[in-house]
Amino acid sequence: MNRKKFLQTLALLPIAGAAMKLNELSKMTEPLGGTERMPVLFLGHGSPMNAIEENEFVAGFRKIGKELPKPNAVLCISAHWETRGTFVTAMEKPRTIHDFGGFPKALFDVQYPAPGSPALAKETQSAITKTQVGLDEKWGLDHGAWSVIKHLYPNADVPVIQMSLDYNQPPQYHYELAKELASLRNKGVLIVGSGNMVHNLGMVAWDRLNDAEYGFDWAIEASEKMKSHIRSGDHQKLVNFRSQGRAFDLAIPTPEHYLPLLYALALQEKDEAVQLFNDKAVAGSLTMTSLSIGKA
Ligand code: ZN
Repeated sequence: MNRKKFLQTLALLPIAGAAMKLNELSKMTEPLGGTERMPVLFLGHGSPMNAIEENEFVAGFRKIGKELPKPNAVLCISAHWETRGTFVTAMEKPRTIHDFGGFPKALFDVQYPAPGSPALAKETQSAITKTQVGLDEKWGLDHGAWSVIKHLYPNADVPVIQMSLDYNQPPQYHYELAKELASLRNKGVLIVGSGNMVHNLGMVAWDRLNDAEYGFDWAIEASEKMKSHIRSGDHQKLVNFRSQGRAFDLAIPTPEHYLPLLYALALQEKDEAVQLFNDKAVAGSLTMTSLSIGKA
């Protein structure tokens, strides 16, 4: 429900009703502004080249884009936007950020002109009580967002905002912060975490880059354990990834590509199933494993 409608509703209430608690009021009026609960995604984005290549992962992104109800907007938590504090992009027209080096010109030529949504930025800001979320006018869409969202919505006709990762905060904090985004799902917002569950660039098997599927033993072990915890709903083990042994330590040398997974899982409701897709290891030390939560 937008602010204008809300104020109109308030004006129609009798005086006793106006004293009604706001949360009761919002429950009562939910059918006016609400939508069906949108699914949540975690997308393994892998190489930026997935933005312009044709491969099975790109096909997987396209397929899920077609299977989901079309959202009013996308809120993306990308591995590639880390800040001190938490911000959401609030500009009308986010720029396409080419935040990588050493790739062909064709990749730098990609523009993804999806509009922003200052309204959703403000809505996100007010949904979160755990911290003061800042409105950002400088960032835009980094490749963690556009390299995958462009396959979901190739016409760039769905507004996209990003929310940053606060690099000062522990995993539990991110998991709890994400839970505060739950109400957006009932407003037609598709929440997308974009990272990689197993992501160790320092150990990439450069001689196996062209293999369709290849994972080191530790990468497979970490991936299997992660998936097992996801299937059993044991999110706490995933939040406590630093206590899960050597395979996890190698799979998650730094947390930024893993944390978007926690954002997606935190939004899983008790009645919602998780479906995996693009579930493969590549280049030894990466997994493309992606998931949808709450998809019909
Ligand atoms: Zn990345």
